[in-house]
Amino acid sequence: MAMPRTGKQGRNGQSMAREGVWEYAPAPESRDVVRIQSRYELFIDGAFTPPRSGRYFPNVNPATEETLSEVAYADAEDIDRAVQAARRAYETVWGNLSGKERAKYLFRIARILQERAREFAVLESLDSGKPIRESRDVDVPLAVAHFFYYAGWADKLGYAFHGRIPRPLGVAGQIIPWNFPLLMAAWKIAPALACGNTVVLKPAETTPLTAMLLGEVFQQAELPPGVVNIVTGDGHTGAMLVQHPNLDKIAFTGSTEVGKQIQKAVAGTRKRLTLELGGKAAHVIFEDAAIDQAIEGIVNGIYFNQGHVCCAGSRLLVQESVADLVVRKLQRRLARLRVGDPLDKNTDIGAINSLPQLRKIERLVAIGVQEGAMLYQPDCALPSRGYWYPPTILTQVSTAHTVAQEEIFGPVLSVLTFRTPDEAVQIANNTRYGLSAGVWTNKGSRSLEFAARVRAGVVWCNTYNKFDPASPFGGYLESGFGREGGWHGLAAYVEL
Ligand code: ADP
Repeated sequence: MAMPRTGKQGRNGQSMAREGVWEYAPAPESRDVVRIQSRYELFIDGAFTPPRSGRYFPNVNPATEETLSEVAYADAEDIDRAVQAARRAYETVWGNLSGKERAKYLFRIARILQERAREFAVLESLDSGKPIRESRDVDVPLAVAHFFYYAGWADKLGYAFHGRIPRPLGVAGQIIPWNFPLLMAAWKIAPALACGNTVVLKPAETTPLTAMLLGEVFQQAELPPGVVNIVTGDGHTGAMLVQHPNLDKIAFTGSTEVGKQIQKAVAGTRKRLTLELGGKAAHVIFEDAAIDQAIEGIVNGIYFNQGHVCCAGSRLLVQESVADLVVRKLQRRLARLRVGDPLDKNTDIGAINSLPQLRKIERLVAIGVQEGAMLYQPDCALPSRGYWYPPTILTQVSTAHTVAQEEIFGPVLSVLTFRTPDEAVQIANNTRYGLSAGVWTNKGSRSLEFAARVRAGVVWCNTYNKFDPASPFGGYLESGFGREGGWHGLAAYVEL
């Protein structure tokens, strides 16, 4: 597909071309560490089995448009088989197993995942388009850390709830998106298993491969059959899973729109629900902030992950007195980001996950420009095949603009300005979401005051996008409810 080359002028009319940028020799990670199968079956009852539907769908590398594999499409009968297997495993093995024994399996899974980390990182980058630096240094280590963390809780649940006795819920249906395929699977599976539940997991249609590799890890760890089942497919598959009557819990991470549909479908049933939905995070820079560090934080918060995170710092709120300086420095930094081969260790920005997602980004940026925002994109060469979008800054944005309200989910930063701390809070809270926010200032009192007044599940101070399995994550408002991670994450999988 031909991609737009969008070399633009800097704000002051100077060329922001890549002059002075050192070109590195290519440093691609080898693909040979992972064996991609020509076809992936469903993982049900401990075995890889063909779908009753007889259908498969292609799985594409978004950086090249090459077909990597074909993946089983689960229909209602397949979902039913998976749920029955999970129920059987819950009733006959897992639900009655001591916490100490469950912990052993989780530790084993964590260790195997760690041993096979390179394989997972390469597969994740091939399937999702994210740079290997992110999958290798963020996604995979955090997934491992989640299994280790919740393994540690499995035999201590009796002490977690102040004398109240936790019991597992039963069988959980878990639906995850494409932005952190392996990590989201770990976030969902590890606490569920630690608390004694069994699982049917539905990965996103564009990124199922690391979940299937995780199925192999479960076999290697000799996890009892049926404790985790993985069904692949699209939104219909997800909807069928949500509607299955024999589930006790639904956990969903994805768009607010689908989250609302799921909430309706679950209303009036016995199913417990947690939703982690969209976000439109405000990243606030006060004039007293360490500007250069803040620039790195902003770049890390939105560009290094193609903006493919629900907590992406996609709205930059800068105090007016430093706005020009911040934008100028950001433009300079953007001109030096390397966009390209996700497997190259020097790549900063990888591919957009799918063609529909690319089209959505293009549409929203066009709306932003129509509504009066000023567009800046550095003059970076984009590969001729695959789904690519250059790092983008939209300035002169106000809260009424679509780009300040809609989740873009791409490497696009909308810049707004404010004069006083009150105004910063007001603009930050002017959104239907409330997942995360960031604040940069050298005054501790100012960051604490901002953190107390902004409606967001996570507020990062003088840093951004830092995760730890011990720290809970989740949203307010239309960003959903329930927390994942930490002690709080246990509460989503137990009855007290
Ligand atoms: P995104 O916009 O981030 O792609 P979606 O909410 O569309 O997120 O998808 C997230 C996950 O939800 C994917 O696994 C997708 O297949 C699944 N999904 C999509 N529609 C539905 C639905 N109506 N019910 C249940 N799951 C769904």
